[in-house]
Amino acid sequence: MGRIYLIDVTNRDGVQTARLGLSKLAKTMINIYLNEMGVFQSEFGFPTTRHESNYLRANLELQEMGVLQPIHLGGWLRATTEDVEKAFELVPGIKDINISISTSRQMINGKFQGAKGEKDILLMASEAIDAARACGAQTIGVNAEDASRTDDDFLVKFGTLARERGADRLRYCDTLGYDNPFTIYNVCKLLAQEVGIPVELHTHGDLGMAVANSVAGAMGVIDGGQDAYINTTINGIGERAGNADLVAVVLALKKSKGLARKYRFGRPIRLSKAWKICKYASYAFNVPIPINQPGVGANAFAHASGIHADGVLKDPENYELYDFKELGRGEPEMVETGREIASGEYSGISGFRHVMGKMDIEFADREDAEEILELARYANVLAQQPLVADELYFIAKYPEITRKLLTLTPLA
Ligand SMILES: [Zn+2]
Repeated sequence: MGRIYLIDVTNRDGVQTARLGLSKLAKTMINIYLNEMGVFQSEFGFPTTRHESNYLRANLELQEMGVLQPIHLGGWLRATTEDVEKAFELVPGIKDINISISTSRQMINGKFQGAKGEKDILLMASEAIDAARACGAQTIGVNAEDASRTDDDFLVKFGTLARERGADRLRYCDTLGYDNPFTIYNVCKLLAQEVGIPVELHTHGDLGMAVANSVAGAMGVIDGGQDAYINTTINGIGERAGNADLVAVVLALKKSKGLARKYRFGRPIRLSKAWKICKYASYAFNVPIPINQPGVGANAFAHASGIHADGVLKDPENYELYDFKELGRGEPEMVETGREIASGEYSGISGFRHVMGKMDIEFADREDAEEILELARYANVLAQQPLVADELYFIAKYPEITRKLLTLTPLA
């Protein structure tokens, strides 16, 4: 029986979303939290984009140091030989990549305007896979962009060629959120059977079905005899109406009627980290969590009406499918209501020592404190909001890595 793994794409699809972005430190914190949660892979960024290079390299260094273990760190790039070679030139230590190319007639005709056809797509994908292997990629996922508007026959052909060239996974992208649970179940079962390699589900919420589609697609893949890899984002943040929400996908797989008996995670997922990671992403993106968000919304465990309140007080299971404690909720949160000293880009040593002292971080000497303060100031320039405790801990613990994360040097 195949298993389900999670590949979170917040640091790729999430940050490429209009109006949204994350500092390199915030992206790093997200990788750390995803690792703590048991997520198989973080699609941690764009290895052909120069301002990502230092961040990507620094995170690979954290992986080597054992900080980001056992999570895989996957780069996303276009399926062209030039992009593959550029990725390995800019980020030499990268091991896991996903290469992407459009497969639907709409996109092939619409993007290439008649200059390329299906044969060219197959050729470009093969050459890119060969180049990735030659550059030393350990795992290669091949993405069929707009798969849901691609003919089944061509998808099978595309996937089979990818497998023959040595790809490890095929990513089925419902790029426009066009599928429904029944269509995606059928096509993904077919792909698992005919192509014979694990299939990734990448879904979007344009019709409000991203979570349902990713779960149904994974069921199809497993029923077709392969492992399924679901692409998620924290709080569902992603292009347009967003991607499949990480916590909702986990809840659906663990709690939906009868599902967990047959469809199992390949790696234990610590749902108890949900609250922390969702709150952090909300803060870092500056996007509030919707009040009715599954599991982590303010109203997810709130009851007001007489019948519901009475029922839940007698037995929570009357009106709750799962307990708030399972998501790591329930701890009181301390909010400063009086005088507050926050970290900022113009902070001084005295205020900084006060902030760090409250968190039990001690410095060897004044010089040490000043160095960490300097790094925290730079981190503030990029974040443009006070750093949270975990970020300050990170900076104090890994000053050399932080220095790399904060280094953006254009035209070098
Ligand atoms: Zn996407």
